[in-house]
Amino acid sequence: MKKTSGYSLAALSALIATGCVVAPTDRALTPEPPVDASPPEQETYAAVYDPAGIEALIRQVPEYPEWEYVYAHIQAINSQAELGPGVPVDATLSPTVDPEMARVTLDAYSKAMGIWSFFGVEEVPAVWTLMSELDYDWWRARVVEVEGEQGDLAVWDAETSTMGHCSLSSQSFCGYGNPNAETGITAQYNVIGSDYRGVPNADTVAHEGVHFYQDVYSQDYYSFMPCWFVEGQANTTLLCRAGLWKGRRTFWGK
Ligand SMILES: [Zn+2]
Repeated sequence: MKKTSGYSLAALSALIATGCVVAPTDRALTPEPPVDASPPEQETYAAVYDPAGIEALIRQVPEYPEWEYVYAHIQAINSQAELGPGVPVDATLSPTVDPEMARVTLDAYSKAMGIWSFFGVEEVPAVWTLMSELDYDWWRARVVEVEGEQGDLAVWDAETSTMGHCSLSSQSFCGYGNPNAETGITAQYNVIGSDYRGVPNADTVAHEGVHFYQDVYSQDYYSFMPCWFVEGQANTTLLCRAGLWKGRRTFWGK
């Protein structure tokens, strides 16, 4: 859940080819054949979604054992997998949530889950609800509808306008999930503030997408996996996605 932002991406280094010097010669110069002076055709590279290529990349061991190569390997897999259809993600929308903002959010998660479609994830095991900060009463009814007695109506405190770790306002973009070990389904609730415009933070989406992946295999992984592993797996994917490991000496620091 930890929010990360403000990293600077390492600039791409340019390869500079040095010119070669031709030594003088005393051989008779023969005329050179005419050179086609027309400029070479511009090469355009369009990335394509190639599932077989991605599968091969996943099975290929990174070229060198250093972490940078492992990170780069994960980044390559993720960036290609993001081009595909991803994992279908659906949600129930509240009466006041902006449907266009909801669609943008769902699309972002669907694409970010692309990498996990190669690791057995066919659908996200969540009943997802998208709402705005104005939907407190609607949310209460929705929790009962989705979760029955398992639901926790204390998560959203209307007096303090907080929902879990979120401080709610018209600019919020925040949420929480309540996994159910018996059903294997997470009840997921997100608030998209009524004035919120924009795309979800890609780092956050990549991070939360890993938790959806973890949810597929267990709804109570916190009971047997240490938090550093659960959150570390999510953050490693986030770091790899955007090449954020570059220039760092520690996991979080510089
Ligand atoms: Zn997390």
